[in-house]
Amino acid sequence: MNAASRSGLLALLLTPLVVAVTLPPGDRPPKVASLQETVGPLATLGRVPIDLHTHSNASDGTLDPADVVAEAAHHGLTAIALTDHDTTAGWDEAAQAALEHGVGLVPGVEISTHHGGISIHLLAYLVDPANPELVREMEHARESRDTRMERMVEKLAAAGVPITLDAVLAQARPGATLGRPHIADALVAAGHVAGRDEAFDDLLHDRSPYYVRHYAPDAIRAVRLVRAAGGVPVMAHPFANRRGRTVSDEVIEEMAAAGLAGLEVHHRDHFGPERLHGQALADRLGLFVTGSSDFHGAGKENRLGENTTEPAVLAQIEEQASSGVTVVRR
Ligand code: AMP
Ligand code: ZN
Ligand code: FE
Ligand code: FE
Repeated sequence: MNAASRSGLLALLLTPLVVAVTLPPGDRPPKVASLQETVGPLATLGRVPIDLHTHSNASDGTLDPADVVAEAAHHGLTAIALTDHDTTAGWDEAAQAALEHGVGLVPGVEISTHHGGISIHLLAYLVDPANPELVREMEHARESRDTRMERMVEKLAAAGVPITLDAVLAQARPGATLGRPHIADALVAAGHVAGRDEAFDDLLHDRSPYYVRHYAPDAIRAVRLVRAAGGVPVMAHPFANRRGRTVSDEVIEEMAAAGLAGLEVHHRDHFGPERLHGQALADRLGLFVTGSSDFHGAGKENRLGENTTEPAVLAQIEEQASSGVTVVRR
């Protein structure tokens, strides 16, 4: 590097500092985009890593709720949300572990919903777990998941795939919300496939002939319900179109009008263009943006903290919640 370019680089590095110190007192320095703002939440350089989407074996994760929290502590996360599918059964155990490990716990749930025949996952943070309508909807979804599981197993078995309902139930914690990953685990245990991913490639994909839908409330109604239950609704992985069909921006706009608070833009199922689009859509609709891992334990590649959420966004979630449920912190 020659002297000119070196001094140019030096000037560039010093610019924000010089601007800040030469301004007249009382004037705020012009806002200089931080590295974080420039590259997005993937870079957690020296920041507070917060992961707002994880699963335990209260649904289709492989770890106990307490062990999800222990893992989070081990990875240096300062706060996580436990967001099992259609259940809040893991909250108490996770809360206790959060106090033990000094990790913040945001109690949450990932509610299965749909709109126009397309599945939408709705994250609900700090929602009242005893709200009667919410309880009814989650129970309905879980019961429907049980009967749907029986039907999927029947269809697979009829096609010669080595599977039984008992083998599937053996993969789930008693009372867990049942999902396709439990079938995948049973197929792995039977030596039929190598891992969950392989099972989802054809047998369990939602375009597979063995796929059966389960009950889920309409997404717009679910957004209103979460708000009525004092919670903060955030749309999970809105553009994850490799996993199944996704809704148009118009539907997201309707959800925003119904009270949606945020979009989970930073998620491994979104690549660059989807993240840019999600950020722009969130800006246009006045929604905040979150990032999270969607950790499921050993069953998926997702690593805790691989995408993170800004502390200011968690603060907004806490401000907006009115259920009396708060973040569990030591
Ligand atoms: P279900 O709730 O039964 O509709 O199943 C959906 C769940 O399957 C989601 O929570 C995903 O985490 C999981 N899933 C979807 N695709 C895959 C995949 N390719 N590998 C592992 N898990 C997956
Ligand atoms: Zn899942
Ligand atoms: Fe999801
Ligand atoms: Fe999830």
